[in-house]
Amino acid sequence: MKVFKFGGASIKDADSVRNVANVLNHFPGEEILIVVSAMGKTTNALEKIVESFCKRKEVTELLKPIREMHFEIINELFSADEHRVHNDVEILFTQLEIICQGKPEGNFNQVYDQIVSYGELISTKIVSSYLNSSGYQNKWLDARRLIRTDQNYRFARIQWQFTMRMVTETIQKGNRYVVQGFIGSDDDLNPTTLGREGSDYTASVLAYVLDAKEVVIWKDVPGVLNGDPKTFDNTQLLEEISYREAIELAYYGASVIHPKTIQPLQEKKIPLRVKSFINPEGKGSIIGKGKPLKPLLPCYIKKDNQVLITIATRDLAFIVEDHLSMIYKIFHQFGVRVNMSQNSAISTSFCLNNDRIITPRLLEELQKEFDVTFNEGVCLYTVKHYDEASRKRVSKDREIILEQVTRDTYQVVTA
Ligand code: ASP
Ligand code: MG
Repeated sequence: MKVFKFGGASIKDADSVRNVANVLNHFPGEEILIVVSAMGKTTNALEKIVESFCKRKEVTELLKPIREMHFEIINELFSADEHRVHNDVEILFTQLEIICQGKPEGNFNQVYDQIVSYGELISTKIVSSYLNSSGYQNKWLDARRLIRTDQNYRFARIQWQFTMRMVTETIQKGNRYVVQGFIGSDDDLNPTTLGREGSDYTASVLAYVLDAKEVVIWKDVPGVLNGDPKTFDNTQLLEEISYREAIELAYYGASVIHPKTIQPLQEKKIPLRVKSFINPEGKGSIIGKGKPLKPLLPCYIKKDNQVLITIATRDLAFIVEDHLSMIYKIFHQFGVRVNMSQNSAISTSFCLNNDRIITPRLLEELQKEFDVTFNEGVCLYTVKHYDEASRKRVSKDREIILEQVTRDTYQVVTA
């Protein structure tokens, strides 16, 4: 069994969905489990609905374009008499509308998971039906019945035992399946999500449970490059990457792979390929055992929309372990990850993702105890395996706010 994952960009419109069938035709007769995310930018759009809904605002106008986009794709892919998919998707939109007409049930994160999970439920209905109608027989699976998690809504953690049992009972040899990435459910069958971009992780969890031969993540780039081509010129393909190296790159924000994705694969030594859905015959990259990087190149990572928070004690006392542990506890409580940190005698600075929802609440909490200053809208550049030229490349002509050089990693926060 192989596990394939198709992300939002690979199913953003009718032509892209057709292309998924084209990619799959390169693998005739193979047992494949296909993990699919929400179409295009649907998750972002659903997030906006959650925000409005939780503020008790009317969301009908926000739902409309999402519905229209999906039905346009359906109308392009299916003839009018293929009622089944129309009905299936109609039912899902109706459920979503009913939720949005009621009162928010549970806390923000719980409501988030309840609403945002529809992106994947809807996309998989469309993709699975289209593949069936184009001759690629497959079964649609409901990840809420397969992937069991805790109740840490929005950042749910897998309950492995139950998940293993459900997955092995459900998935049968010789079949092909389409299943949602990113979502699962808790013990009460409330929907949960695994963190943004979590579909890669779903693919890896399923591969682990099924002892898959390999995982392939299909992307709009030729494989893993030494920088995001949308940001950096002259990027090159990394043909081979060790698990460890990949985990580090993901940690620094390389958007190719979800940070948690590698761990389960590494444990069972399942290779992860990253290939282009535009050029399925291209070589792509392989993440597996072996040398850190081939070829060994500086790797560039840019994280936009960062917030640099500087925290000082009110009485200008030294920042000591006590303060740090208190600060990290607060970070943990808000589920924020530190992308870079630097201490000085009386202050300590942290570069974090600037989350619209979390950052204001986090700042408020920190301000209860400390003097807090912050710069929003800053960028964090990381160069792994840096040399002089690559350091210059990211820092030249930019206003540097904070800089850090370690043995093999260079990081700089710029205005
Ligand atoms: N649709 C979700 C997101 O956009 C999950 C994923 O794409 O992996 O974050
Ligand atoms: Mg997505």
